[in-house]
Amino acid sequence: MGYIKGLRCRECGREYTVEPIYVCEFCFGPLEVAYDYKSIARAMNRKKIEKRERSLWRYRELLPIDGEPQVGLDSGFTPLVKADNLARILGVDELYIKDDTVVHPTLSFKDRVVSIALTKAREFGFDTVACASTGNLAHSVSAHGAKAGFERFIFIPASLEASKIIASLVYEPNLVAVDGNYDDVNRLCSEIANKYRWAFVNINIRPFYAEGSKTIGFEIVEQLGWKVPDNVVVPCASGSLLTKVWKSFKEFREIGIIRELETKVFAAQATGCSPIATAVKQGTDVIRPVKPNTIAKSLAIGNPADGFYASQVVKETGGYAEDVSDQEIIDAIKLLARTEGIFAETAGGVTLAATKKLIESGKISREGVTVICITGNGLKTQEALHGHAVPSHHIKPSLAAFEEVLQKIHKG
Ligand SMILES: *Cc1c(COP(=O)(O)O)cnc(C)c1O
Repeated sequence: MGYIKGLRCRECGREYTVEPIYVCEFCFGPLEVAYDYKSIARAMNRKKIEKRERSLWRYRELLPIDGEPQVGLDSGFTPLVKADNLARILGVDELYIKDDTVVHPTLSFKDRVVSIALTKAREFGFDTVACASTGNLAHSVSAHGAKAGFERFIFIPASLEASKIIASLVYEPNLVAVDGNYDDVNRLCSEIANKYRWAFVNINIRPFYAEGSKTIGFEIVEQLGWKVPDNVVVPCASGSLLTKVWKSFKEFREIGIIRELETKVFAAQATGCSPIATAVKQGTDVIRPVKPNTIAKSLAIGNPADGFYASQVVKETGGYAEDVSDQEIIDAIKLLARTEGIFAETAGGVTLAATKKLIESGKISREGVTVICITGNGLKTQEALHGHAVPSHHIKPSLAAFEEVLQKIHKG
């Protein structure tokens, strides 16, 4: 009942049957899922989608599974929040937040990709799932894998936020902390993936896993009333999410769900790890790897697997990229909380701070509809705010003490 035609190399176009593989044997290009869009166009329309359950599985014809969804049944369909308070401060007409800080069981957009990856791992007959993670993927694979009954191996940089390590450990996976950064962890995992028959969600089943990111784009279009935004701002780690947001819009056009598509796609990164933003700003196609040094650990991939493709999408759509300092990230986290009541993790701070700069420089015009992707919950990275959020008052338990404080507040 699936609509997959096979896997296709993004570089040379060579086709492969559906298997847990991810690179082209001939040119080493990455493999991508290819669909039968003619059949999908017949099977899927706005009305049908609207009648379905409010989860990411409402777009199932455009997801790479053959049978029924098996993992993450409640993931997806997060709110699209009209951010009028924030829009006023940033000086834009119409601003929306795609709010992936809520709804998902592990409070980040990674539940989207993991729902697909683990359903696919089950279809392939794996009993062990694994991942190399900057934190959120570890959390999500640990949780969904527990519920689905998989053996789990989770590899993380040892320097990850304590709160994210604990959030993964509570589900009792095999958690391996590795001395080194994400790129070291990923290299190690590629070796392990060659040797053991495990489903590494972001390695050997990456082509399927990555497709889950499209659901954030499908939802944005549906929630805007079946329209694409004029601008969309996406945080980048490997760059995969950004490419898939664009792919989701193109697929909706391909199957006739929308007609017009003139969205500019913008990339957001932390200055301490900005290989994609740097390439875009310098106008080069070469993504130069960096050693990450930023509080936005969930985005800290120095050698991004999809960096080239992400920079091409930015270029092709007339978007741009921006990078922001740790202080700008913290300021933006607080701005989002104070204006819209949304507590985002550091990656969300990156997206908002970058958006602010893109508006100020005129890259994002003040007219038109802008959507920013806020991809993870702030409770996951509270360490980032240590020293930046302290109780404003500390008193003895007496009315007099409180009223002294109150007077000070009113004096301003
Ligand atoms: C993983 C992640 C991203 C983006 O990941 P890509 O590798 O670029 O797809 C964005 N935000 C958060 C919070 C993440 O955990």
